[in-house]
Amino acid sequence: MSSVYASRQTRLLPATREGIAQAAALLRAGGLVAFPTETVYGLGANALAATAVLGIFKAKGRPAEDPLIVHLAGGEQLERVARSTPYGDALAARFWPGPLTLVLPRLDSVPLEVTAGLDTVAVRVPAHSMALALLDATGLPIAAPSANLFGRPSPTTPEHVLADLAGRIDAILQGGPTTVGVESTIVDVSGERPRLLRPGGLVAEAIEDALGVRLLPPPPRLSAGPQLAPGLLEVHYAPRTPLTLIVGEPQAARPRLVSEVSSAIARGRRVGVLLLLDEADVFDPGVRREVVGRWNDPERSAARLFAALRALDAAGLDLLFARDLADPNRGLGRALADRLRRAARQIIQS
Ligand code: AMP
Ligand code: MG
Repeated sequence: MSSVYASRQTRLLPATREGIAQAAALLRAGGLVAFPTETVYGLGANALAATAVLGIFKAKGRPAEDPLIVHLAGGEQLERVARSTPYGDALAARFWPGPLTLVLPRLDSVPLEVTAGLDTVAVRVPAHSMALALLDATGLPIAAPSANLFGRPSPTTPEHVLADLAGRIDAILQGGPTTVGVESTIVDVSGERPRLLRPGGLVAEAIEDALGVRLLPPPPRLSAGPQLAPGLLEVHYAPRTPLTLIVGEPQAARPRLVSEVSSAIARGRRVGVLLLLDEADVFDPGVRREVVGRWNDPERSAARLFAALRALDAAGLDLLFARDLADPNRGLGRALADRLRRAARQIIQS
């Protein structure tokens, strides 16, 4: 990566009115500022300035064909960046501010750098007081993907952002840990029928209830399931230490996880496990463990998932193991299943 980005001073800005004013000034001047939202930390730049937006791709090492989400201070700002649609209006009125991103027809005010050349644009209003205060203070639509190096687990604390992007961005607005912990749900409402593009912090069932229609499923690239062989999956959100994910019913997956961990230890490997709360005592004391929520409490697991993956990754281990943390076909379990499948180097059907 270019030395220009390795030599930037990254300022740590406090969660105060003054900190927000400084962050807003940097964004207005074309800078790159990481800020908290309710989902994960975002890396923001002026969405109306192509050069500022290109800085995001350089700082993250993100491929130019991966489009960004535009963040707004309120739904009334939508007309600056997108054309509205009936389904879009209904969902914006019901769920904004909140962890829902809408894909809508793009207006010419939005540079093609933001949308990777698409004639649609992804937009949301975050439900986080600091994010809203910052967006309001800039007076601009702000393009912001997750504030991590491309492919790494998303950041849920300012420390995660610093670990990935220190020296590559202008500032981090420090707002403490995020609450939802997984990225927004993305729904394409630009066409005739609404389509789920990415499961996330807002459960798909709530969206279907609000609209009174079923969402079309994600296109095949995004719906990677357990039937796929290792290596075919799009790897994303991934720790550097190889993660093996065991999928299948809990009665089968749980003992399989225990046996895979035991045999890795028997082979002399240093092992880490991502665990549900009530399973923490099942494993050899030598196993490094990170505990998330319970099978029936996916909110807690979502809030802890990326921090747990980062902690395991930083522990100097050879292999990581996990199983599904909730029902992969329902509620927030869908988002957890999606992130775990993309984080995994190998998937074992139990
Ligand atoms: P991130 O902000 O890193 O969580 O990633 C944003 C994601 O939003 C992209 O990777 C795409 O999957 C999705 N996205 C953004 N804009 C569009 C769009 N115009 N059409 C479809 N998907 C989009
Ligand atoms: Mg991301």
